[in-house]
Parts: sequence; structure tokens; C-alpha cells
Amino acid sequence: MRLAYRASAAAARRAAGTSAATDPAARDRGWRDFAARCARTLALVLGIDPIDISAQPDPTRRIGTGEWPGVLLRVTDPEDQTEYLFIPEAGNLDVFLALLPCPTCGVPVPWVRVAELADLGEFLTARGWIFDPAFWTDPAHAPGCGHYRR
Ligand SMILES: [Zn+2]
Repeated sequence: MRLAYRASAAAARRAAGTSAATDPAARDRGWRDFAARCARTLALVLGIDPIDISAQPDPTRRIGTGEWPGVLLRVTDPEDQTEYLFIPEAGNLDVFLALLPCPTCGVPVPWVRVAELADLGEFLTARGWIFDPAFWTDPAHAPGCGHYRR
């Protein structure tokens, strides 16, 4: 794929994401730079093209001292269009948490810690349930969800 085409496609996708986002952070250069860094790092961890990752403000998880929304990273597999959601692990921008729906409330919450591609592969081929400790404390669980432990 030619660079100019890829760059134009990326700009169009970012513009669409920015206009759809209700959080003003999506228009802030500092937040966008941070989100782009997260996407680049996740692309390296997964061994994929960064163009297949879009970043958007995470309405329920905060970063820093809480004034900024977190970064929700949506990976789309170009082969079959399967979508995967990730967030950076708190305090460690080299590691990500893969999100899947909570079996009780249905909201995407962290299930597995992904520091390298094999971590995701192990999870995808595992039988039974594997929960990262962040599963239990993630603020995205719906109010009253029995899986949420403060
Ligand atoms: Zn839940």
C-alpha cells in the first residue's frame, strides 16, 4: 500500500473518531500524542500494523491524576475484521490488558495481561476462565455487578 494512501486513510479515520468522540480529550494534542504512543506500543507487542489500531478516549478509566480519560485501543484484524479491545496497564505503558465482556454485566473489562503476543495466544487457546486481577477492580463494571470488588 502506498504511503500517501495509508496516510490519507489514517487521517480520515482519525477525523471520524475525533468528531464522534464526545470527550474533548480527543481533540487535545497532548492526549492524542499519548494515545498514539499507546497504539504504537501495542502494535509492536502484537506484531501488527499500527494502522489497524484506533485509539479513543475511555469514558470510565482515568489516567494520571484523573483529569484525563484513559485510552481505549480498538484493534481490527484486517483478515477477518474481528475486533479486540485493549487498555494500557496502569503504570506500565509497555503492557496491555485485553478486554472482553464481563460474564455478569456484559461490559468490556480486563481479562488478560498482554506483555507479548504469546500472552494473547495463550488466552485465546485456553480452556476455562482466566482473569487478570484487574478484572475484579475495573471501574467499568456496571453498577451492582457482583464481579466488581473495590
Ligand atoms: Zn461486571
